[in-house]
Amino acid sequence: ALTAGIVGLPNVGKSTLFNAITQAGALSANYPFATIDPNVGIVEVPDPRLQKLTELVNPKKTVPTAFEFTDIAGIVKGASKGEGLGNQFLSHIRQVDAICHVVRAFEDENITHVSGQVDPISDIETINLELILADLETVSKRIDRVAKMARQKDKDAVAEYAVLEKIKEALENETPARAVEFSDDQQKIVKGLHLLTSKPILYAANVSEDEIGAEDNERVKQIREFAANENAEVIVVCAKIEAEIAELDGEEKQEFLEDLGIAESGLDQLIKATYNLLGLATYFTAGEQEVRAWTFKEGMTAPQCAGIIHTDFERGFIRAETVSYDDLVDAGTMGAAKDRGRVRLEGKDYLVKDGDVIHFRFNV
Ligand code: GDP
Repeated sequence: ALTAGIVGLPNVGKSTLFNAITQAGALSANYPFATIDPNVGIVEVPDPRLQKLTELVNPKKTVPTAFEFTDIAGIVKGASKGEGLGNQFLSHIRQVDAICHVVRAFEDENITHVSGQVDPISDIETINLELILADLETVSKRIDRVAKMARQKDKDAVAEYAVLEKIKEALENETPARAVEFSDDQQKIVKGLHLLTSKPILYAANVSEDEIGAEDNERVKQIREFAANENAEVIVVCAKIEAEIAELDGEEKQEFLEDLGIAESGLDQLIKATYNLLGLATYFTAGEQEVRAWTFKEGMTAPQCAGIIHTDFERGFIRAETVSYDDLVDAGTMGAAKDRGRVRLEGKDYLVKDGDVIHFRFNV
């Protein structure tokens, strides 16, 4: 399963946020991929369409889709020098598909800050620098290997060499690989390098209790400006309040949010943004037994999506009876959607779209 890693300097609110995630956490019984690692929290992806489909179909059970957050603890400063725990920190980041970087934007004199003062940009740069240095080492090693072949005019080596040089130059200017522009062909080469600074990133600005639902404070503004230059997104949360919200359910939660003057909890916003960051989308199955949301990666075909439910579905795939969520809701029932000619029979090359409601036909 895809996972997003939570990173941040000490005392920025990582554990508080991660505890909110596990508190709000999904029942692992529904999610067979769920690990029992205490550093992994499963979150359900909030999706109002699921509620609507449940009303239409009236199934016995409704199951949202979910993914994992991993709490990446460990020593940050000096990590790239490869000392013990620092090394572990980097290898954990290597394993995640996206990075959620928690940055302290709250003021609280009782909670010390590692560098003596709250300066979000300097905090961000401290972590980014370690990732940049680690990548610089990866790239330099690779250049040593490729340079010789490139001199012999090996076509692939020449192409890779050009990409490596471009990344190296960026890294030396403390620019992450994700901020460098590449052609589609070059992107493929970049992907193969598995760099830490090319992983998609999102900043979670942790503000104080009284700043939720208020205008951005100075630090949040700074973080937004920084992120914009990197094409990264920013979510504003108050980890402490998220921990409280996580203990509430349904109506209670809704009332609490209304009191705060916000439409959606920071955690829910974070989950959605991370989901998009991972390039994920949702399709639905809607039967009388179960209405369920399934996560797929954009660009996946109908048989591949069938395989997410069960490998037999992919192997024996015949076709996918597909209706878009909007068409189904418009029609009111599956039967009415069929009468209107809105239910398509899609074959093995069909690229599934976000919001498709699918019934897979397959041979066993
Ligand atoms: P970590 O070291 O990054 O995991 O940080 P923690 O989650 O342990 O938080 C460090 C301290 O900051 C704890 O005392 C938290 O209660 C406090 N803290 C975390 N988030 C907030 C917040 O949003 N507002 C305030 N006032 N304190 C917070």
